[in-house]
Amino acid sequence: MPEINDTTLEALRSRLRAATVYTAESETYKDVIVRWSGTGMKHAGVVVQPIDALDISIALLWAQEYSIDLAVKGGGHSTAGTSSSDGGLVIDLSRMNQVTVDIEQKTITSQGGATWKEVDEAGAAHGLAAVGGTVNHTGVGGLTLGGGYGWLSGEYGLTIDNLLSATVVLADGHIVTASATENVDLFWGLRGAGYNFGVVADFTYQAYDQKGPVYSGILAFTPDKLEGVMDALNESLAKPDSRFGAMSIFTLAPDGSGPMIIVIGFYNGPREEGQKKFASFTALEPVLNTLDMIPYSMVNTLQNPQATYGDRKAFKGIFYEPPLDPHFARGILNDFMAKIQSEPDLKASAIILEFTDMRKICEVPLTATALASRNHTQNGIIYLRWTDPSKDLEHRTWAREVQSKWKVELDARAIDQGVDSSVPQYINYAEPGDSLVSNIYGENLQRLQEVKEKYDPKNVFHKMQPIPTGASVRKKE
Ligand SMILES: Cc1cc2nc3c(=O)[nH]c(=O)nc-3n(C[C@H](O)[C@H](O)[C@H](O)COP(=O)(O)OP(=O)(O)OC[C@H]3O[C@@H](n4cnc5c(N)ncnc54)[C@H](O)[C@@H]3O)c2cc1C
Repeated sequence: MPEINDTTLEALRSRLRAATVYTAESETYKDVIVRWSGTGMKHAGVVVQPIDALDISIALLWAQEYSIDLAVKGGGHSTAGTSSSDGGLVIDLSRMNQVTVDIEQKTITSQGGATWKEVDEAGAAHGLAAVGGTVNHTGVGGLTLGGGYGWLSGEYGLTIDNLLSATVVLADGHIVTASATENVDLFWGLRGAGYNFGVVADFTYQAYDQKGPVYSGILAFTPDKLEGVMDALNESLAKPDSRFGAMSIFTLAPDGSGPMIIVIGFYNGPREEGQKKFASFTALEPVLNTLDMIPYSMVNTLQNPQATYGDRKAFKGIFYEPPLDPHFARGILNDFMAKIQSEPDLKASAIILEFTDMRKICEVPLTATALASRNHTQNGIIYLRWTDPSKDLEHRTWAREVQSKWKVELDARAIDQGVDSSVPQYINYAEPGDSLVSNIYGENLQRLQEVKEKYDPKNVFHKMQPIPTGASVRKKE
């Protein structure tokens, strides 16, 4: 890959109109290459922070003219470095974080570099909410383009199911709208394989009335309650309620004394109903219970204290067919705690299990959007966090071993329950190269290849789960 030199850099600077340019010589260069995880950080040759689509287009064309590697940064949460480049150009959208609300139409338009915090807060100011991520400093960009699960998914589906339109800067520099009526094939591809086609300058989402607070908070249990907690979570999916959601987190108690089972609970309704929904959890006598009526936007801050920037991280998806076997969960907890005890540098790690009512998500036909993982399989994450860079490979290898155990369990369940466990898994939790299925795009692959050939035939956008086409295969060789 050619390197950036003074001449090419000067060409870039002279063409850009209002963007800010950073190189290794810039005073704040170190700050702009920071990512949520140290494992996602790379030393870019140049970072361009545009404030509009035109400068994105200029930067994109420049990179292609000089054959410079290209990465696009939204919220910067990729732990695998898919929003970073070693020596190439990063189009960093962080200054494109404006969010506007159309009160009449109940829509929210967010620029491509905003985080969910900005969307949540802008919506809340008008009694509206969008289906967004559960950790509010995550970028709207990556989360939307890969599907997007949030606390409101039970009621309204995925983020992409509520995407109305997007402004996209294509590889050829054109700035186009993608929606149900314009560039329909691009709009289809953006919803689930969206990192493949261009830079999204803005997204417009359907929003929903969310005038009142929700019943939500954190429950913490001692490890002896694990089976009871799993039973209660399984029960919540056996009798689903679209307004209910929960997450279970296996982690180390804050005082380091031993394991702790956390449940983050969510119910979009009044307190009395919420209390009933969580009665089987509170009956287990949690050592902490913060369930209360809180603003929707605050729910998406509950995980922030554990999901801070810094250190090195791996984020590996695990997938399971409910009901989750409590004995299996116990084995996972024991192995996880044994690992943390033998490797204290991993003490801030966790295993996160989501319990989402998938009915609304599964109402959308599998081929209606590019997302190939619409099914009732639940998502989870092995979240490893450590400080020693020399341990990267070792920790990632261990996370893959744990991932494999979940896959074996999923396969066994699938046989029992007659479910197809070879289906693709949630693309946003599948780090490139880590997918436990060979075809992350499932039955949508062929159409995606056609859309990719049309909009990005040279595979300019190749960092995150590139769709295999002639150009991507050539780039690999
Ligand atoms: C702490 C944490 C919490 C999470 N919670 C959830 C959750 O609740 N629900 C859920 O579904 N997922 C969740 N995820 C997964 C998340 O959706 C992905 O990690 C997502 O890719 C992050 O997007 P980003 O913009 O922050 O990251 P980035 O690293 O900036 O981008 C990720 C990929 O998307 C591309 N990209 C980003 N923005 C654009 C754009 N505007 N145009 C074109 N390409 C773009 C980048 O090039 C990169 O390849 C979470 C992840 C983390 C780390």
